Amino acid sequence: MQTLSDLPALCAAIAALKSDGKPLVLVPTMGALHDGHMALVEEARRHGRHVVVSIFVNPKQFGPNEDLAAYPRREAKDAQMLTAAGVDILWAPTVDVMYPAGFATNISVSGVSDGLDGAARPGHFDGVATVVTKLFNQVRPDVAIFGEKDYQQLAVIRRMVADLDMGIEIVGMPTQRAEDGLALSSRNAYLSDDERKAALALPRALGEAKRQMEKGGAVEEALAKAVAMLSAQGFDPVDYVTLCDAVTLEPMSVLDRPARLLGAAKLGKTRLIDNIAVDIA
Ligand code: AMP
Repeated sequence: MQTLSDLPALCAAIAALKSDGKPLVLVPTMGALHDGHMALVEEARRHGRHVVVSIFVNPKQFGPNEDLAAYPRREAKDAQMLTAAGVDILWAPTVDVMYPAGFATNISVSGVSDGLDGAARPGHFDGVATVVTKLFNQVRPDVAIFGEKDYQQLAVIRRMVADLDMGIEIVGMPTQRAEDGLALSSRNAYLSDDERKAALALPRALGEAKRQMEKGGAVEEALAKAVAMLSAQGFDPVDYVTLCDAVTLEPMSVLDRPARLLGAAKLGKTRLIDNIAVDIA
């Protein structure tokens, strides 16, 4: 695996890789890799495709009071894991390479970015859309893989790629979970032992609300119960537990089409998110 952090070296390596005509797949990450990320990499490796993984902790997607400085960084271990997984290129640009002096462009995807995490974290999805556009232009992949763990992010990127005719196939991978059901996340490293136990309330509350709604229970009631379950386990604040259209992410009060149930809440200093499909009975 080549680990690269400057743009001319990346361009040369990508050109060499692409010369055999095989498709090139990009897996964008912020590092501190876990089995969730590695499932994306394995999917990328399938069918003998070339794989580029990017690691970039993107300052533009963190708000002023968020955890940019504390975000876990484990470059050496990440590189080991990616080498073992057969990745061709690790693209790890510095902030100065990504955003040189004078950088002034912002990509903003309206609608799908507005609610949920877009409302709770103003500017977050502009930061995501801007950096993903840059990564796509730098790496020029045929396919890019994202996790359903960040369901709204996946929806924003699909919208952007369609709107801007980017011509990149976007693949969404199911959320990888710990044995007890907690979605794997780099941020789980922040949780104390007690918080780790309480964190299970998030997938459980979403799962319980899904069951109620799929049995025909009132949406509003199921959502209120989920919020109450989270509060009872010490989540504070609960930013949202919302049923949304699976594609547009418009909020739904009646389960009349394929939907996604999304939740976000803070446990101590750690903000956790999760989501689950909800099917019409
Ligand atoms: P991050 O490093 O958190 O920005 O995540 C990089 C990519 O990995 C994103 O597309 C995430 O949605 C995906 N990802 C993170 N955690 C998981 C998980 N538990 N299961 C599947 N994909 C994940």
